[in-house]
Amino acid sequence: MRRPLVVANWKMNGNKLCSEQFIADLLSAQDQFTEVDCVIAPPAVYLSSLAPKLVASNIQLSAQNVSEFNQGAYTGEISATMLKECGCHYAIIGHSERRQLYHESNDLIAAKFARLIEAGVIPILCVGETLAERQDNMTYDIILGQIDSIIKLVGAETFLRGIIAYEPVWAIGTGKTASPKQAQEVHATIRSHIVKQLPTQAQAYRIIYGGSVKSENAQELFAMPDIDGGLIGGASLKLDSFLAILRQAGK
Ligand code: PEP
Repeated sequence: MRRPLVVANWKMNGNKLCSEQFIADLLSAQDQFTEVDCVIAPPAVYLSSLAPKLVASNIQLSAQNVSEFNQGAYTGEISATMLKECGCHYAIIGHSERRQLYHESNDLIAAKFARLIEAGVIPILCVGETLAERQDNMTYDIILGQIDSIIKLVGAETFLRGIIAYEPVWAIGTGKTASPKQAQEVHATIRSHIVKQLPTQAQAYRIIYGGSVKSENAQELFAMPDIDGGLIGGASLKLDSFLAILRQAGK
C-alpha cells in the first residue's frame, strides 16, 4: 500500500506574511490529513523561515527548482546542498513551465536529479506531453524519454529514490483535467516501464498526478489504482480547497 502524497506548488505567488499564515492554519488542521504526506513548495526565499515551523509535523517542504551545479559562479542559482540546509526534503524538477519558459532539456534535468540525490533531497520529477504531442500519438515517447534520460545518468535504482509527477502540459493551469481513465493509463504505463527495470521496487514507487486538480475532481483521480496523490498548483493557494484535496487523498 503506497501512502498518498500531495504537493502544493505555490509557484511565484503570495508573500511572506500570507505564506506564514497559510502554514499556521495548515498546522492547526493537521488532524484532517493524518494518512497523507503533505508537501509545500513555496518560493525559495521563504523556505528558511517556514522550515522551523514544520518540525514534528507531517508537512514537509519542497523547492520548485535547483541548480544543476554544486557551487560556483552561477548568479541567481541555488544548489541542492543549500536547499537541504534550508530544511527542504523535496525539490520539483522538470516542471513544464521550466521546460518551456527556460528551455530546460532532459539532460539538464537529469543533472539536477543527480545533484539532489547527492545532497539527500528527494526529486519530484515532472513529466508530461503537450496537446500537440498527444494528438500526434507521441505521449509515451515523450514521457518515457523524459524518464529514461534520468535513468541513463543515475541508474534505475537511484531513479527510484525520487517521485514522478505526471502532468499533461495541456492540463496545467488550463482548467482541463485528464480524465481519471486517461491519467490512470499513463500512470500504469510509467509503472510497468519501471517494473521492467526493477520489478521488486516498482510497486512501492509513488507516481502523483498534476494538472488542474481541484476539490471537485480529486477524489475520482485519487481513486485510480496507480495514482498516488497530486501535485497541485492553483488549488493549493487557498487553504480551503487545498485541505479538501488533502482529505480526499486520505480516504
Ligand atoms: C502545476 O503547475 O504543477 C499544476 C498542476 O498547476 P494547476 O494545478 O494550476 O494546473
